Amino acid sequence: MDTRKQFEVLQWASLFLEKNKREPRVAELLLQHHLNISRNEFYMRMRDEVPAEIVQSFQTDIERHAQTGVPIQHIIGYETFYGREFLVNEHVLIPRPETEELVQQVIQQSKNMPNKSQTIVDIGTGSGAIAITLAQELPETTVFATDISEQALAVAQHNATQLQANITFLQGDFLQPFISNQKKADIIVSNPPYIAKAEEVTLTDTVKKFDPELALFADDNGLAAYKKIITQLPQAIDSGATVAFEIGHEQGEAVSSLLNNQFPTSNINVIQDINGKDRMVVATGL
Ligand code: SAM
Ligand code: GLN
Repeated sequence: MDTRKQFEVLQWASLFLEKNKREPRVAELLLQHHLNISRNEFYMRMRDEVPAEIVQSFQTDIERHAQTGVPIQHIIGYETFYGREFLVNEHVLIPRPETEELVQQVIQQSKNMPNKSQTIVDIGTGSGAIAITLAQELPETTVFATDISEQALAVAQHNATQLQANITFLQGDFLQPFISNQKKADIIVSNPPYIAKAEEVTLTDTVKKFDPELALFADDNGLAAYKKIITQLPQAIDSGATVAFEIGHEQGEAVSSLLNNQFPTSNINVIQDINGKDRMVVATGL
């Protein structure tokens, strides 16, 4: 392709991706990145010519994504989450839009609590997306974040520094490092691994080959992480705490009943995402 107008370049890429069974919308993000301009500018310049060398490098990336499934976010190096940019690489799950809804739930729960100087723990923090967003949106809280992966924690720490969020990162098995620090939380939030290994065949190669295994899969039909976290919970909270989990869309009942067994007097709700799928379980009054 030689010089073309921006909308033509975009059209070519979207069609090419569609033909190759990839999400066409990523073309926009990638082209915007190659042009090094803001989203607004991008829309204003649709009729401008794109320099030939940019068309060339953009085309190479689009073809690489189509052929290998490498996520666009790995090519450009970041993903936007709740309006902020997070460095991502092969050591962390690319944060998902569903998880922004989990964050929204936690913000709402936090604002409903009478005491605003709460302690929050994000378990399995990955890129740090949940913990860092909460620390920014709820400046009166104290935020801890755990992960078993040292490499994930390094990415999360980098993001926290870049975004100037004050988080205490702890390495270990789910809540264990927080418990070892003799701390008690008011709110616990987690998007743990929840996919059953048997479902691996249903994932696209963008997920299967490029998100870390540790971030995706859990034993016991995808429930193992919830089971472990729920058994750890009593040691990590004072009474009256809130827990918010992201879940797989068929796990609402199972996760609710695990919580109900451990905390029979708590108030447990399964909440849907914007696509109408069960996506979160929030329990208050633990
Ligand atoms: N919180 C991030 C998000 O929502 O984008 C990442 C979520 S990813 C689904 C799950 C995370 O849990 C991964 O970063 C993984 O390393 C971490 N993890 C897996 N097993 C763990 C364990 N036993 N203890 C602590 N973290 C664990
Ligand atoms: N929601 C992610 C996916 O569909 C999985 C994240 C998780 O297991 N917590 O790929």
